Amino acid sequence: VTLPVAIVGGGIAGLTAALCLHARGVEAEVFEQASQIRELGVGLNLLPPAVGCLTELGLLPALDRAGIRTNELILANRHGQRIWRERRGVAGGHAAPQLSIHRGRLQQVLYDAVGRRLGPGAVHVDRRLVDVTDGEHGPVAWFVDRNSAVPKPAPAAIVLGADGIHSTLRAAMYPTEGDPRWNGVMMWRGAVEWPVFLDGRSMIVAGGTAAKVVVYPIAPGATADTRLTNWGVVERIGEPGTPPPRPEDWSRPAHRRDVEAALRRFSIGEVDLPGLIAATTRIYEYPMCDRDPLPAWTHGRVTLIGDAAHPMYPMGSNGATQAIIDAASFARHVAAAAPDDALSAYEHERRPVTSEIVRLNRLGGPERVIDLVEERAPNGFIHLDAVISPSELRQRLEQYTRLTAGGTDPADASGRPRG
Ligand SMILES: Cc1cc2nc3c(=O)[nH]c(=O)nc-3n(C[C@H](O)[C@H](O)[C@H](O)COP(=O)(O)OP(=O)(O)OC[C@H]3O[C@@H](n4cnc5c(N)ncnc54)[C@H](O)[C@@H]3O)c2cc1C
Repeated sequence: VTLPVAIVGGGIAGLTAALCLHARGVEAEVFEQASQIRELGVGLNLLPPAVGCLTELGLLPALDRAGIRTNELILANRHGQRIWRERRGVAGGHAAPQLSIHRGRLQQVLYDAVGRRLGPGAVHVDRRLVDVTDGEHGPVAWFVDRNSAVPKPAPAAIVLGADGIHSTLRAAMYPTEGDPRWNGVMMWRGAVEWPVFLDGRSMIVAGGTAAKVVVYPIAPGATADTRLTNWGVVERIGEPGTPPPRPEDWSRPAHRRDVEAALRRFSIGEVDLPGLIAATTRIYEYPMCDRDPLPAWTHGRVTLIGDAAHPMYPMGSNGATQAIIDAASFARHVAAAAPDDALSAYEHERRPVTSEIVRLNRLGGPERVIDLVEERAPNGFIHLDAVISPSELRQRLEQYTRLTAGGTDPADASGRPRG
């Protein structure tokens, strides 16, 4: 009997891995601790390589209905003065689009596809992994549920830890690692139906080191001139390395007054930020956390993927993007080789690049350029060139782009800054 791959966690990484394995004829089962898959979170972005993976799975039409193809990125200072403007996705010369989407809707698209393709029994909800052991014929994952605290075994060919930033599997491999590390920055996030700004497919990131604002549409609106619009405000409120004021939880509600205070430093012409935030009924807070890159992801026939493997600051649209690319890589190797070789090839392909993104995001990611402009010209500028030269701008952004294939394809001459 060939045992399935046991995927621990039914988030973005776990569900995508199940679909990629199924597409290659490998049996998989997903075990999710939540008692149902609910649409949690707000907006996120998928870069072209990740959308390419989902396109190969035949999911692009469903994603197009649920999300928005982002076709430009604007970087600005807190006064709304433009620093950089570039085309993204297909408009930026990539084969696949960049997609802005509600995390919950992305998860639902993946979950529906898993149900249709692998069968309704492939996702087990209310199963919390508590341990993993090495069995005679391979690893065994142990799960508890609401009705029983006595762990039940699930023998598997491979156990894949897709259990997010608080991964139990990672903790089993690295018992002394402790909590994620906070960099002292708090993020407030929300999404609300809002009038279209610019061409309805633009993402604006404005600010600098002390505070930033990001705003972009993530879904069609009820009418042609509105969009479900995602916003985030980030502000440094603590010392890096100290514990966050409240533990990180993606669904934690925030105090409106905290966001309004952070907003006072901004004025960007394209969007009425105070109005946008006043109209948002549910505001969440999340301390910006990551973990140090690991020396190894694989122990025996157990390995890690997505945020369990490489939680990173949510910058440069890479959290979910890299999780999806991991899933495609994992499935490709598992289908091509025996488990031990497959896991080492997967880790060899994915660990160095994701460790480098964790490191670059600590340095500010692609948004580092707006930090620099604020440091050099805190009260704004008359001529941008006097603050930062076009070649320095391009060079700093392309360093990140090369690694993640996110920005305008450097080979595409149409992608020069226009703003
Ligand atoms: C509720 C929620 C909301 C989020 N909202 C946003 C957002 O708005 N914007 C954004 O950029 N990113 C958000 N994220 C993070 C984003 O989904 C990830 O950074 C990225 O998509 C990588 O996904 P992942 O599958 O590795 O991890 P996650 O998406 O975190 O998924 C991990 C899954 O594993 C499950 N799990 C955890 N422990 C166990 C266990 N012991 N046994 C079984 N299952 C377990 C969790 O319930 C979860 O479903 C959110 C994550 C969560 C869980």
